[in-house]
Amino acid sequence: MVHRYYHQLSPWQQRVYRQSDQITAVPVPGATALVEVALAVGQALARGEPRAIALACDQLLRRVCGRLGVTPPTVTVLAERPAGYWGELHGLYNPGQGPHGTITVWMRTAKRSRVVAFRTFLRTLLHEFCHHLDFALLRLSYSFHTTGFYKRESSLYQQLLPAAGAPSGATARRGHASIPETTVNVTVACGN
Ligand SMILES: [Zn+2]
Repeated sequence: MVHRYYHQLSPWQQRVYRQSDQITAVPVPGATALVEVALAVGQALARGEPRAIALACDQLLRRVCGRLGVTPPTVTVLAERPAGYWGELHGLYNPGQGPHGTITVWMRTAKRSRVVAFRTFLRTLLHEFCHHLDFALLRLSYSFHTTGFYKRESSLYQQLLPAAGAPSGATARRGHASIPETTVNVTVACGN
């Protein structure tokens, strides 16, 4: 099944979209050894210190990238999520920022400035990381929110947090329809 915007894409974009849609998993060799590294993100989040959280995220993504043979992105953790009429921005991926692309995630909700739940936060981090992998691993020239993309995100999540299941709200994504799909040189903005 394709999203509605598929029919507004150019023929080459539709080709990339279909490629993206067909890849449904990202197998990480020896992922079980990384579960503790993923849990360390939650421990840092509980302490509420952005630099410690960024360090834990960086450690996790570096280890995953090492196993996938790709260069890791830079990770930036900021405080309250930006919000507007379109909802809350959970994460960004900018492939043109930093040596190998930059992920930005927010650790607090916009409305009440509460620290984001660990599973939701990890899901957002892995979502942005999947945008990075679209370029760095899959060599796609565009990163679309296809059904295959979300399956890859779930595949990573389940490997790194096997017993967790889906976090609440993970499937109730909104914002993607109102935030335009972007080209390789433009930031990918992701609201959930
Ligand atoms: Zn996204």
